Amino acid sequence: MTSHRIALIPGDGIGIEVLPAATAVLDAVGRRHGFTLGYDTFDWSCERYEREGAMMPADGLDRVRHHDAILLGAVGRPGVPDHVSLWGLLIPIRRTFRQYVNLRPITTLDGVAGPLRDAEGVDLVVVRENVEGEYSEIGGRLNRGFPEEMAVQESVFTRAGVTRVLDYAFELAAGRRGVLTSATKSNGIIHTMPFWDELVRERALPAVSWNQEHIDALAAKVVLRPREFDVIVASNLFGDILSDLAAAVAGGIGLAPAANLNPERDFPSMFEPVHGSAPDIAGTGVANPVGALWSAAMMLDHLGHAEAGDEVRAAFRAVLAETPVRTPDLGGGATTKEFTAEVLNRLGTAG
Ligand code: ATP
Ligand code: MG
Repeated sequence: MTSHRIALIPGDGIGIEVLPAATAVLDAVGRRHGFTLGYDTFDWSCERYEREGAMMPADGLDRVRHHDAILLGAVGRPGVPDHVSLWGLLIPIRRTFRQYVNLRPITTLDGVAGPLRDAEGVDLVVVRENVEGEYSEIGGRLNRGFPEEMAVQESVFTRAGVTRVLDYAFELAAGRRGVLTSATKSNGIIHTMPFWDELVRERALPAVSWNQEHIDALAAKVVLRPREFDVIVASNLFGDILSDLAAAVAGGIGLAPAANLNPERDFPSMFEPVHGSAPDIAGTGVANPVGALWSAAMMLDHLGHAEAGDEVRAAFRAVLAETPVRTPDLGGGATTKEFTAEVLNRLGTAG
């Protein structure tokens, strides 16, 4: 029997509530498909940061380096600045393990009403560059408190870094509807963005019809005509903004999954729902587990169990489409556990 070793990082807030939903569903689908998952749980979180002064121990990365994948809930805590969880945990994991593709599928689900009148049939993927670009530590502050005070922040775009994420995105588009949109802002940002545009032209695949959009115009189009998009590829910052926008268009942040992929598989990839720790509802047991379940399904795809991943997606889709069971963020009255039980029920009878 195949078995996989998974590092679980529940994190903070509702991260701790949605990960048990994911592991319950993973175990159930594993039994049906003849594989097992073993879990090692790490308490790396903003709560740990408050207790011990660091999100994770000094040898943290070494402890998860040999796992087959990492499944993360959410990190964040009122009073702990966001950059602590980003630079103290997420960015070190993404960079050290060369998870240079951040994949965020956005698909409308039957039974879930988005904020737009007519957003049915949206099925797109945002491919976000995940380890360089605008998220850089190069820069600084000068003359603090003086009238001459200034801040400088450099972006870093490398030929190797941009090329590999573009190649991933073009391959992905070739296997889907064959349409790719690249988001930049080359009229305003005159060095890095034209470089990205040039590399798009260089790496384009003949089987893919592609175009380039300015990020501002593209944001408007994703709201006005979301169905037209298939694969959208963008830099670290633009990809982050676009994927939250598109997730909202599709019906809410609680549904959206993300994969931080190391396509070469020389290090573990990391799977995490897009939402944060949601301190406003943490502890009440009503967090929507769909983002976590969908992320777990992407983990199954990556581990070579795409059929099992499809089964998980089909199960939560069926619950949303065919039953009134849903969490309060989707207008229902179900708890995380009740919704998960319904998904487990479906899994038992699916296929
Ligand atoms: P963090 O600081 O960890 O990023 P946040 O509050 O800034 O937390 P989110 O956690 O993404 O950001 O929450 C944004 C809003 O969406 C909150 O009102 C939250 O309750 C809601 N929300 C996010 N995820 C879920 C979910 N899975 N189920 C229900 N509501 C959610
Ligand atoms: Mg937040």
